[in-house]
Amino acid sequence: MNADFLRLAAPTRRAWVELDRAALAHNVEALRWVLPSGCRLMPAVKANAYGHGAAPIARELRRLGVDAFCVACAQEGVELRKAGIWGEILILGYTSPADFPLLRRWRLTQAVVDAAYAEVLARYGRTLRVHIKVDTGMHRLGLPCQDVEGIARLYACKTLKVTGIFTHLCTDDTDIVPDRAFAQRQIAAFDEVCRALEARGVRVKGRHLQSSTGILRHYGLACDYARPGIALYGLLSDTDATTRYGAGLRPVLALKCRVAAVRALAPGEGAGYGLAYRTETPARLAVLTIGYADGVPRALSSGAGSVLLHGQRAAIAGRICMDQLLVDVTELPDVRAGDIATLIGRDGAQTITACEMAAWAGTISNEILSRLGSRLERLVL
Ligand SMILES: *Cc1c(COP(=O)(O)O)cnc(C)c1O
Repeated sequence: MNADFLRLAAPTRRAWVELDRAALAHNVEALRWVLPSGCRLMPAVKANAYGHGAAPIARELRRLGVDAFCVACAQEGVELRKAGIWGEILILGYTSPADFPLLRRWRLTQAVVDAAYAEVLARYGRTLRVHIKVDTGMHRLGLPCQDVEGIARLYACKTLKVTGIFTHLCTDDTDIVPDRAFAQRQIAAFDEVCRALEARGVRVKGRHLQSSTGILRHYGLACDYARPGIALYGLLSDTDATTRYGAGLRPVLALKCRVAAVRALAPGEGAGYGLAYRTETPARLAVLTIGYADGVPRALSSGAGSVLLHGQRAAIAGRICMDQLLVDVTELPDVRAGDIATLIGRDGAQTITACEMAAWAGTISNEILSRLGSRLERLVL
């Protein structure tokens, strides 16, 4: 589907996300290729599939043979079920006991976030499906890896159906020696827990520990699942990591909007809130139909960021508004109302990646994508 078709098909659409189905399929294949056979994908589709749209992404993944997913909270799991997504859905974070009925009603699998929470889960009285989270050093969630006794007890608990066990690596973002050593210690600690459980006669299944960088850095780890998030969407957290470890991936998402109007400014005039944009020469500004409520960071104001128009970069002018922003098109005389602007994605020879936008805003691509607003329409192309 090309831009002209979109223009005809949806003349009223103000701002939207385009999802590249072929890119998603490519990334799934690329990650499967890296993982040892027998290790299945359990993609992270939390936070509305990193802003891509949980339902369309999960549906595509189902079509590609993915049958397990992870989300952050029960509500996200319920939404996937309501969208017709079957298979395993693991809730990675805390679920309030008040929501335990949802776990059973929608057949969701809950992470056991620590020993006290395990007791709360067990006391619910009806069988719940769980994966045990093991803390191997991140100190966020999980039972301490030293507590083999406590972890083994969960397998013996009648009201817990333990279908998996996992941990999370927390130093895979850098190449520095202490970080690499720490990741190796986490992997060894997890392995050790699984062995100790098996030595006690526990049948350990459903092991997983790798997120995106973990998959790309630690080839051949013998696990049952891997939990890619950002890599599945075709990039890593920043440009450097993407170039080094994710070069074969293809970005799935493009973010686009329209030109609402073009204004001519005379020398000495200003524009936008606080008149933060000022010109000493004749200038032309395009008003775009997207703002910070849609997820464009306000930190990109006053030239910190650019957009693509007619295959060229146009700098953001003045302060980004909630629903609109201005760009300087003085050098692009053909820009007209109704034209399409690309905030993330390709236009002609130019591309802006989520990583590049993230660098402008002083953050990582994960945050840029996961904060894309709910009023953006999601189109699967
Ligand atoms: C979000 C998350 C992931 C996916 O992380 P990426 O870095 O995006 O691949 C995996 N595991 C856990 C526990 C997570 O919270």
